[in-house]
Amino acid sequence: MQKIKMTTPLVEMDGDEMTRVLWQLIKDRLILPYVELKTEYYDLGLLHRNETRDQVTIDSANAVKKHGVAVKCATITPNHQRMEEYPQLTEMWKSPNATIRAILDGTVFRAPITIASIKPTVRTWEKPITIARHAYGDVYKAAEFVTDEPGECIMIFKNASGEEKSVSIQKTAGPAIWLGQHNTGSSIRSFARSCFEYALDTRQDLWFSTKDTISKTYDGYFKAIFDEEFENYKQRFGTLGIEYFYTLIDDAVARVVRSKGGFIWACKNYDGDVMSDMVSSAFGSLAMMTSVLVSPDGNFEFEAAHGTVTRHYYKYLKGERTSTNPIATIFAWTGALKKRGELDSLPELTDFAARLEKASLDTLKAGIMTSDLAILAAPESKPNAVDAWQFIDEIAKRL
Ligand code: NAP
Ligand code: MG
Repeated sequence: MQKIKMTTPLVEMDGDEMTRVLWQLIKDRLILPYVELKTEYYDLGLLHRNETRDQVTIDSANAVKKHGVAVKCATITPNHQRMEEYPQLTEMWKSPNATIRAILDGTVFRAPITIASIKPTVRTWEKPITIARHAYGDVYKAAEFVTDEPGECIMIFKNASGEEKSVSIQKTAGPAIWLGQHNTGSSIRSFARSCFEYALDTRQDLWFSTKDTISKTYDGYFKAIFDEEFENYKQRFGTLGIEYFYTLIDDAVARVVRSKGGFIWACKNYDGDVMSDMVSSAFGSLAMMTSVLVSPDGNFEFEAAHGTVTRHYYKYLKGERTSTNPIATIFAWTGALKKRGELDSLPELTDFAARLEKASLDTLKAGIMTSDLAILAAPESKPNAVDAWQFIDEIAKRL
């Protein structure tokens, strides 16, 4: 059989632990036999990030700007525990996702992959809920520090000609913690536009929520930009019979739980981080959530929404065959290959990606699944729990 050819390379960002193991397995068993894979490879594994003083992460993000489409494996964000686990680390490197998102800007769209045999925990949900997470700024690009003395913290903005604007944050009598965060008008505007575009593209209502009753200036700024931008989309929303509506985040949470699903929920960076884990878990599993970062200049980075599945990795290192679910990582690859196929007019490549998705879903429909899903599946679907290697073999058979 002749392999499918590619013209432009995909930016391939390799990662850590169990997802790195799955990454290689997916490539070897499901992609390389059929596609003459062309990638520009960046090893974002923790030790290589450390060796390059994290330059590799910056280089990989710039490569996305050059080539337009990337696929990323989950990566470790070091914390104090990781510093002990990896004594060779010279710094507590920042989250690669935060670094990449700060360079690319944009919005992360996360949607659950649903199958008939797994009913959402929330009984009323009939359709997937897509979270649109703003991918720039706020607490992910903040400065923070601790103070021990009594005193006052003042926030100062200095403009290009040196004029200052300042505000007192608080006077404190003892030890205190401080956080300064920001966002930019242009990033929020592109967040709003990509949400409105995505809603039109997928014909779904768009909800947006913040806490502008408390954060009147900061969150109020987000709301005002969304309102302003919506003026340019109102008519097209009307024509398609879809709506945009803004509500407070507390109200949104309550409504989401009572809803039937089938809409896009736009969230600020932190809300989107947390809510996407809640939504994906309630739909079944963290491992059944697709995630794509769409930048304002039209670049795409596909990834899985879950982490490196550390607990499974330590079992794997002891020689155990773990039942780790590769679906989200497979769909990151298919999303990227499909997009590359569309952009380069390679229908065979787009078609291959669709077949790989179908083979994966057909395997699940046949009741063959990893144990995270098997424990949730309806008993009448006769779920058969297998390990990741067997599961990928079953997909390969169908492919
Ligand atoms: P995690 O890797 O998502 O895993 C948390 C738990 O969720 C797992 O222990 C497992 O539950 C379940 N799970 C997640 N993915 C699964 C899969 N594919 N198949 C089966 N079960 C799955 O989160 P974490 O343990 O909090 O974080 C581990 C590392 O990942 C951290 O170093 C963190 O920095 C990193 N991280 C990276 C990203 C990213 O790169 N996008 C995102 C989040 C976290 P059971 O143990 O009960 O089986
Ligand atoms: Mg998260």
